[in-house]
Amino acid sequence: MRPDILNPLFAESETLDGVGPKLKKPLEKLGLARVKDIAYHLPDRFVTRRPVDTLDEASEGEQIVIALTTTEHRAPRSGRGPYRVLAQDSIGNICTLTYFGRASYTAKKLLPVGERRWVAGRLDRYGDMLQIVHPDHVEKEGGETLSRLSEPVYALSDGLTQPKIAGLVTQALQKLPELPEWIEPTQFEKQGWPVWSDALNLAHKGEHGPARERLAYDELLANSLALMLVRAANRQRKGQALVGDGSLRGKLDLPYQLTGAQARSVREIEDDLRQESPMLRLLQGDVGAGKTVVALEAMLVANEAGKQAALLAPTEILARQHFETLRDMARPTGAEVALLTGRDKGRARESTLMGLLDGSIDIVVGTHAIFQDSVNYKDLALVVIDEQHRFGVAQRLQLASKGRMSPHTLAMTATPIPRTLTLAQYGEMEVSRLDEMPPGRQPIDTRVVALDRLAEVVEGAGRHMASGQQAYWVCPMVREHETEDIAAAEARYTLLKERFGDDVVLVHGQLKPEMKDAAMQRFASGQAKLLVATTVIEVGVDVPAATLMVIEQAERFGLAQLHQLRGRVGRGSEKSTCLLLRGDTLSETARERLALMRESQDGFRLAEEDLRLRGGGELLGTRQSGDTPFRVASLEQITRLLPLAHDDARLLMDRDGGLNGRRGEAARILLYLFERDWGVQMLRGG
Ligand code: ADP
Ligand code: MG
Repeated sequence: MRPDILNPLFAESETLDGVGPKLKKPLEKLGLARVKDIAYHLPDRFVTRRPVDTLDEASEGEQIVIALTTTEHRAPRSGRGPYRVLAQDSIGNICTLTYFGRASYTAKKLLPVGERRWVAGRLDRYGDMLQIVHPDHVEKEGGETLSRLSEPVYALSDGLTQPKIAGLVTQALQKLPELPEWIEPTQFEKQGWPVWSDALNLAHKGEHGPARERLAYDELLANSLALMLVRAANRQRKGQALVGDGSLRGKLDLPYQLTGAQARSVREIEDDLRQESPMLRLLQGDVGAGKTVVALEAMLVANEAGKQAALLAPTEILARQHFETLRDMARPTGAEVALLTGRDKGRARESTLMGLLDGSIDIVVGTHAIFQDSVNYKDLALVVIDEQHRFGVAQRLQLASKGRMSPHTLAMTATPIPRTLTLAQYGEMEVSRLDEMPPGRQPIDTRVVALDRLAEVVEGAGRHMASGQQAYWVCPMVREHETEDIAAAEARYTLLKERFGDDVVLVHGQLKPEMKDAAMQRFASGQAKLLVATTVIEVGVDVPAATLMVIEQAERFGLAQLHQLRGRVGRGSEKSTCLLLRGDTLSETARERLALMRESQDGFRLAEEDLRLRGGGELLGTRQSGDTPFRVASLEQITRLLPLAHDDARLLMDRDGGLNGRRGEAARILLYLFERDWGVQMLRGG
């Protein structure tokens, strides 16, 4: 049970003043469901603005405060373009104030034609117009804008504004309780960190290194401790020793030989399965490294021992793909493979459930539907989880309760995580690395092309499709405004559709799942030739005929992300190409990244380099999109502080694995605070 002292922090965001049903969704989008989430919604950066009298005084890219008089409102011509407001300074220079999505409604109210307002934001150029996209503040004369020349900048979602979120943060900070110190006293002294509540306050007020650092450390400590508790509990659990006699695996009719790395991984898994304590192993291998066959061999070991195995995929599409591949591969063995997803209904579902219960199904592949309460197994002994990071440890534990005994777990990830991060993500899980690609892979021809050659690239894509091959087109990612990403993707889609017609489909994060799946399906089946997407191309989607990847504004992506995206092509026998379109101003780091992409296709190497490049000198931790389990700690902080946090957690475990005593109690609060309470649950014997 959650300690009472945390109750005010776990109150829902709606309990804050000014949060009604309208803000609920935008807050949820940012993961700000509770008061503590808002308190921990740390600024991405701080902005310092300069007050200017005229637009001429400001340079492009500069943060300014200026008085502007609205002259005209321009609604978008077609449904989804931006809403533009024209405004002029005291000497008649014109500037466009641009609003995307729902923000346009506020624009209408805030900027009546003929009236003067103080506007704060970043001055940019769009074509030959000056513009400010989503001004941070628009205020009548006499407002407070001018007095706040430096302020935090928070990540937003459609429907939220900087002042709104800042107001919520202020309220959340007022609700902070005084929590006991969980950091080991010597460490705490040595680092000179502020106490928890001070740290949170300071982190919102300015670029306060020690405060940010302490908060990051807390998160790392919570994570390390929870993982250690899980590991310790797992050692005590009883699983079933699985010994395969090779009878099923011997019937496999693979068109290739396993690589050395695959064979080694299979042996490591076999050894784990032979033990009574449940396996917790991570199979790490780049896209295309051949994880599927390793998973199949592991599952067949369970089948040979007379038990069932399940494979959990992150999405419906991936579940279906895995199912088809595994069913075909397993056919000669006679093992019965079934598919179960949330979409199965009625008779088909009933019959699958029966098969799982009576044991006639040996291997089930599916989405999280496979561990709903209504699904019961005869004897589930092994669970394989594909793309582990999307699930996290909590679900893994839920799964663990499915079998009569705790099942063995094999997690698979295509993200070649640097070693330091493996520890953060997976604790002390054993790791098998597929660090060798199957033979005969053709390298992907990777080129960097300036965006002003877009027309040529479009024509090239056209020739590519005319020859019967398929292509991906990934659109730029704009920070802070998801709607802008989508607007950009839609604009590109429109352009490409004008040129190529129904051969083009669009996928982005705001499409309904059915529509997204339908578009992906059209592409996967080859009906559509060109898939335009925002950065979210489903991990692991396998379309061998897709041999061209175009990534716009490639300089904005991290190396690891570029590598993941590039990995969508180069899966068939045809030679593949990756075009990295870049804008005309590149930072040194961006230049280096693109050069590395051209030069290397080794995921592990790129991951290490990514860490090095991203870690450099960045003071504020930006939320890492999904590649680490942390919201506060930046990559640089993870690398530097994780070993300390790990030792600290170990001390807590060694001295008192039950988390009793003063510091133990504090640590328990910490686990709940960071929702690592699955760690605490392990304490009570699971
Ligand atoms: P991953 O899941 O690791 O991205 P897959 O398991 O989908 O990779 O394998 C990618 C492709 O490589 C598949 O077409 C598979 O048949 C093939 N493959 C796997 N192992 C080998 C091997 N040892 N030799 C040749 N091809 C292989
Ligand atoms: Mg795979």
